Amino acid sequence: MSAMKFLRSSASSSIRSSLRWCRHASSNPRYDYDLVVLGGGSAGLACAKEAADCGARVLCFDFVKPTPAGTKWGIGGTCVNVGCIPKKLMHQASLLGEAVHEAVAYGWNVDDQNLRPDWRKLVRSVQNHIKSVNWVTRVDLRDKKVEYVNSVGSFLDSHTIEYVVRPNERLQVTSEFVVVAVGGRPRYPDIPGALELGITSDDIFSYEREPGRTLVVGAGYVGLECACFLKGLGYEPTVMVRSIVLRGFDRQMSELLAAMMTERGIPFLGTTIPKSVERQEDGRLLVRYHNTTTQTDGSDVFDTVLWAIGRKGLIEDLNLAAAGVKTHNDKIVVDAAEATSAPHIFAVGDIIYGRPELTPVAILAGRLLARRLFAGSTQLMDYADVATTVFTPLEYSCVGMSEETAIELRGAENIEVFHGYYKPTEFFIPQKSVRHCYLKAVAEISGDQKILGLHYIGPVAGEVIQGFAAALKSGLTVKTLLNTVGIHPTTAEEFTRLSITKRSGRDPTPASCCS
Ligand code: FAD
Ligand code: NDP
Repeated sequence: MSAMKFLRSSASSSIRSSLRWCRHASSNPRYDYDLVVLGGGSAGLACAKEAADCGARVLCFDFVKPTPAGTKWGIGGTCVNVGCIPKKLMHQASLLGEAVHEAVAYGWNVDDQNLRPDWRKLVRSVQNHIKSVNWVTRVDLRDKKVEYVNSVGSFLDSHTIEYVVRPNERLQVTSEFVVVAVGGRPRYPDIPGALELGITSDDIFSYEREPGRTLVVGAGYVGLECACFLKGLGYEPTVMVRSIVLRGFDRQMSELLAAMMTERGIPFLGTTIPKSVERQEDGRLLVRYHNTTTQTDGSDVFDTVLWAIGRKGLIEDLNLAAAGVKTHNDKIVVDAAEATSAPHIFAVGDIIYGRPELTPVAILAGRLLARRLFAGSTQLMDYADVATTVFTPLEYSCVGMSEETAIELRGAENIEVFHGYYKPTEFFIPQKSVRHCYLKAVAEISGDQKILGLHYIGPVAGEVIQGFAAALKSGLTVKTLLNTVGIHPTTAEEFTRLSITKRSGRDPTPASCCS
């Protein structure tokens, strides 16, 4: 076949397949829209845009209520405005500070003794980037012919959404399908001073003054990540832990991560809960707390208190009862097809009960749902083996089961854990601590030893684990992993060198980098 002919035939086959994929929805004239999406975050936007690509008439509502501290933002939801994106930028800012010190060891002539970040400049740069993303999002919606209304939508009945356009003026629209993608917002503890004097991740990325000495309450993803970038930027965070660090993650890895943070000078207040926050005469914040192990009370003074105690689903404005949608713990209950208890009403993203609260999960689930509703697809979202990363200075990334889960589900006698510490080559010259660079593979003990979980603490963990996540989903075995030739010298190659099992009791510390 000539090159020209090949091009023509592949182009027309791709057009054919996209037409098959996105056959136009047959609109039901009884309704104003084929789809109304409540919430313009990762899940809602992905669903709305995919549905529009499939020919559906789509309307998307998005509205952000200001935080108690008065922070508000534009379209795009948590990830873009107050989540993944500003967090990754602040994480990068903090890593760059560390890199400047390393650069000196590598021979750069830099005055690293007087290194200080300009917090306001950093916040301005982060916010400018966010505004550009907000703008692109609106243009994208317009180009894809998704109508957008900046208002709170709530159910009047299962096909009718009501919204406020201005005080005392309410409008209604009807839709054949409704997708609820309203996400969540940070929780505040029910203690004196919490709302008035504390802030959350919704405020920190646009916070006008330097955070200074900061109490971070909560030891989940948000708490650890915020504490780490604040420390990297030269502030003094303390993490208050109610029970354990990173509940739900592999215990050994979580404890290693906490040890890494302690080594970097971040103190933990263990088994402690806050009791009150008061503003002192000098403007600083007096926090009283209680240690539940020693049953003692204590107090300390901070410049900023950041609540990172989890998130609640934004169901209160939806009037879900009018539509017959069942909830559990302020989340919406859905089946494997993201269908709620009410016909024609679906939910995706953080608002659904019992699924990972992560942007790529929200996006893929939203897209797949739109294809099922408007393009005849039957593909369901697979919520298993979703990879994730905690963006601390040595990052922690994992996919699949923790060691505890594997043992609980399969029995300790059926599980083999391969593990090892390693020394990133680039750490030697600046003499960075390698004490917490560690990885492990949790595998079946028999046959080719199917891998059930991979865990890695080290530099750029998310980049390392992403590819392995695809391999794990394709049935990766220890045999295949050890037969894979590594890329030297990288840290990812350490997965191809995992030869020591925990059961053997052998020392997992490496002798040199290249043996
Ligand atoms: P959201 O993005 O929250 O969008 C919902 C939207 O609906 C919001 O704009 C909301 O205001 C609006 N809304 C609510 N009610 C209504 C209503 N009745 N009418 C109209 N609009 C309404 N995930 C990752 O994968 N990687 C990360 O690194 C990461 N970092 C994070 C860091 C932080 C600090 C936080 C808080 C989260 C982070 N996440 C991360 C999680 C990620 O942000 C969420 O999983 C994702 O944003 C969920 O998308 P969503 O569309 O379900 O909800
Ligand atoms: P998490 O649920 O992960 O953590 C909440 C933390 O707060 C836990 O340590 C919990 O302790 C503690 N806590 C809860 N209630 C109280 C209380 N009343 N007083 C004191 N401590 C309390 O929530 P996050 O807000 O950290 O994160 C929410 C979700 O956002 C995550 O599940 C994740 O999916 C997503 N996210 C993802 C990120 C990423 O991908 N990198 C980054 C940030 C967020 P206990 O264990 O005792 O319950």
